[in-house]
Parts: sequence; C-alpha cells; structure tokens
Amino acid sequence: MNDQHEQERLSALHALDIIGAPREPALDRIVRLVRMEFGARHAGITMVDRKTVVFAARDNISNKSMPRGDSFCNIAIQNDEPLVLHDTLLDSRSMSHPQTMAGIRSYAAIPLRTRDGYNVGALCVYDTELLALSQSKIRNMKQLALLVMDCIELRRLAIQDHLTGAMNRRGFMTELDREMYYHDRRNAPLSLALMDLDHFKQINDRYGHLVGDQVLKSVVEVVDGKNEDSQIIGRLGGEEFGILMPGQDGAAAFQRIERLRGMIESIRLPAVPDLRITASFGIAEAGSHAKGTSSLIANADTGLYRAKSERRNMTVLVPRLQEGDFSRAH
Ligand code: GH3
Ligand code: MG
Ligand code: MG
Repeated sequence: MNDQHEQERLSALHALDIIGAPREPALDRIVRLVRMEFGARHAGITMVDRKTVVFAARDNISNKSMPRGDSFCNIAIQNDEPLVLHDTLLDSRSMSHPQTMAGIRSYAAIPLRTRDGYNVGALCVYDTELLALSQSKIRNMKQLALLVMDCIELRRLAIQDHLTGAMNRRGFMTELDREMYYHDRRNAPLSLALMDLDHFKQINDRYGHLVGDQVLKSVVEVVDGKNEDSQIIGRLGGEEFGILMPGQDGAAAFQRIERLRGMIESIRLPAVPDLRITASFGIAEAGSHAKGTSSLIANADTGLYRAKSERRNMTVLVPRLQEGDFSRAH
C-alpha cells in the first residue's frame, strides 16, 4: 500500500466516525452471531487506524485496542479476499506473528470495505484451538461483513446533517451527553458555544436559498477546517449551530470562538463577492453553575441572546460563577 492510498484509507475510516463512538448494539449482535457460527471463543470488528487497531465491537475480547503491527487484521486489510489461517503455526503468513506467539491457533477475517473501495477494518473470528473454517461459513461471514458496513454507514447517516456534513441535532446531543459525563467524572473543562448566523433570512431573501445553503456549508467548512482536536460541530436547527469544546475552559473557548468569528467574517463566495457573513455566539462553561446539559445549553443561549440583542457579530461568554458580568467582544 503506498502512502497516498494509506492517507485516503485513513480519511475514509475517519469519515465513518466509528472509532470512539458509543457501542452499537447491532454490531455487537453481528459479532456474537459470528462467534456462535464458528463455535469460536472470540469474535470482533476492528478498525485499522494509523498506528492502532481499535475494536468497534467485540465478543469475549478484553482489549479495546492493540498496536497495529501486532494484529492479524493489519494483514487482512491488505487484500480484498478473506484471510483464513486454519492453523497459524503451519501458515507462513502467521507462524512467527505476535498473535500466534500470543496463542492464537485459528483465525479468519473478512476485510470491511467502504463504498469507494477502502479496507478500513475487518470482521474477525479466532480461537486458541483449531477451528473448522469451512468455505460455506466464510461465505456467510462475507455477507455479515457487508451488513457491518451497512450498519456503520446508516449509523453515520442517522447522526449527520445532510446539507453541511456537520452532526445533526441528535448526534450532537449524544456527544454532549457523553462529554458531560467525562466532565463530571474527571472534572475536565468543557465549553459549549451556540452560534446563530446574523440576518440569515435577509441573505436568503436577497440572494436566494441556494446561496443561503452555500453560506451554511461554507461556515461549517471554516469551523471544521480549523481541525481543533476533539472539537465537535452540530447543526441544531436552520442556521443555528453548537460547537462543543472538550478540554477548553470558558476563557480559552472565548479566544477560539473570537478567531472563528473573524474567519466567518472573511468568508467570500466567488459567485456573490459582495456578500458578507457574520455570526453571533454565546458561550458557557460546564461547571458549578451549569450542572447537566440542559443548563449548559440554557447558559450558552443566554449569552447568544445578549450577543444578538446588543449588536450581533459578537461573542458573549457567560461567566462561570455569577451571571450578569459578561465578557464581550465585537
Ligand atoms: P437573526 O440575526 O436575529 O438571527 O436573524 P435571522 O434572519 O438569521 O433569523 P431568523 O430566525 O429570522 O431566520 C432564519 C432563517 O433561516 C429563516 C429560514 O428560512 C432560514 N433557513 C433555515 N434553514 C435553512 C436552510 O437549510 N437553507 C437556507 N437557505 N435557509 C434556511
Ligand atoms: Mg439567525
Ligand atoms: Mg436562528
């Protein structure tokens, strides 16, 4: 596999949004079915990331991930055909492999292929004893591998906004719940910004709906393009978005959003060069005054309301402890 192909493969993998996602019961059921079909001890769905292999579902496997080089799945994705190792000790591809050393005696994997032809991971089954890996069972497993990809793709569609590619409201709320849980457990900072485009109705009225759509896409591109690790953007409604910033306290989030506000102001659409886009933001930090997701949202919304009523194209941070003393910039 050359470097460029590997980069594209990784992009295809990351676009699926499956690594680190909450457990998917349908995938759990498929791996259980595979394990039962072969009468094997272990079955899993792996995603082969840059350096690690991460399980998207696993049955009777304790590790959540392993180094890529230590995994048979890394061999499985090099080929479009199933990798079937009847006896790892006798097969030249596996006899000196770390997983054989670790005691795996039989192994089978079907590469998981995206629509555009990238092998992002594998559906695999294995045991420390010899398994009967018959052709008919491998054929059934191939069908299940297709089902795995359908499932992953549908899951992504269910949480993604079709127009902009941002998360939709449902997906964003799930992420918010999850980040709030980590925040409560580890007391790590977490900030939420609500963003609403200014006078968007006028943009539609003046330039038409298609240009309006293009504006929405461009704004998401700018927010996403900053590529801040772990920052999540969701489209909560028409021209309103949430930006979730794990690890950022209010002050850091304010700086970040101010930069973003400037970048949105600089967006120029070649087809309508005189069009100017601005947005207003309210930011709240999860903390003593914002217990639970609904009060975090309510606080950010208070900030957004202030930004809108004061002058728009503005960011308002709702302070952590007492309300009323807002930071502002415009
Ligand atoms: P404000 O500065 O107070 O936020 O004013 P506004 O005009 O942005 O707010 P308002 O809520 O009055 O208008 C929002 C508009 O967004 C109205 C609606 O037609 C438009 N809108 C919602 N969804 C879409 C969409 O998917 N595409 C386009 N082009 N427009 C949309
Ligand atoms: Mg608006
Ligand atoms: Mg609005």
